[in-house]
Amino acid sequence: MRIDLHTHSRVSDGTGSPAQVMREAAEAGLDVVALTDHDSVDGWDEASETAAELGLVFVPGIEVSCRHRGISIHLLSYWHRRDDDGVELMLARTRDARVDRAREIVRRIGQDYPVTWEAVSEQAGGAATVGRPHIADALVAQGVVPTRDAAFHSILIPGSRYYVPHYAPEVTDAVRTMRQAGGVTVFAHPGADARGKVVTTSVIEGMARAGLAGLEVDHRDHDERQVTRLSRIADRLGLVRTGASDYHGTGKRNRLGENVTTPEAFARLEAARA
Ligand code: AMP
Ligand code: FE
Ligand code: FE
Ligand code: ZN
Repeated sequence: MRIDLHTHSRVSDGTGSPAQVMREAAEAGLDVVALTDHDSVDGWDEASETAAELGLVFVPGIEVSCRHRGISIHLLSYWHRRDDDGVELMLARTRDARVDRAREIVRRIGQDYPVTWEAVSEQAGGAATVGRPHIADALVAQGVVPTRDAAFHSILIPGSRYYVPHYAPEVTDAVRTMRQAGGVTVFAHPGADARGKVVTTSVIEGMARAGLAGLEVDHRDHDERQVTRLSRIADRLGLVRTGASDYHGTGKRNRLGENVTTPEAFARLEAARA
């Protein structure tokens, strides 16, 4: 059993359609796959239909943008009720804030480089959740930078004069909101310290008290030191250790199935659903 619990489609910042992500997952030899677009569940129906045709077990998921004292945190949630009022309100607020924020980043970049909101919208192509990756794509299309990655390491890096943060819910509130809607939550790449600041262990303890179920320990953005640290924290707090690819299609190097979750860990997440 090969289980990958973190992937993105073009509903957010992946490059493939939800159906395409499922087809690629089957080709990669996966048996269980979650779709976890940023702040949107718009891909669930299409992914679930295609997964069923392919004989894949589909796990409906999401990656919720959160914050704690200015630090950006990503929270995965699986199986929550998508029509829950609290969840809808929280996500709509973030998605709306993301549009204003992206417009402001584009306005700032536009003073120095040839990039327009129209070009970014075109790159987003109707995505429910707009983010820096789409701005990066517009910069690549204009020849300002060679790749998404290059854009993230220069113009779009936090601390750059063009960077603007966006509203996101406090992470413990998000854990409770998803939990109340029947979701099983996992802290995504909690030790990805090359991307920006990461939270201390005490924040993970607070999330655990709020109902967090797991830690995404096995992830490309974790070095050996972080894997050791996080697996110890997971054991101590009784959190499930997961692993996943964080696949974004051609938008990132991450390959489907490069990190996986064990069947035992997956069974524990399923048990937490009750
Ligand atoms: P935002 O949420 O708009 O601030 O953008 C952050 C998103 O950009 C993350 O969710 C990642 O998926 C993506 N991202 C971060 N670093 C990179 C990178 N180096 N290359 C491509 N995408 C990235
Ligand atoms: Fe992303
Ligand atoms: Fe993430
Ligand atoms: Zn992700």
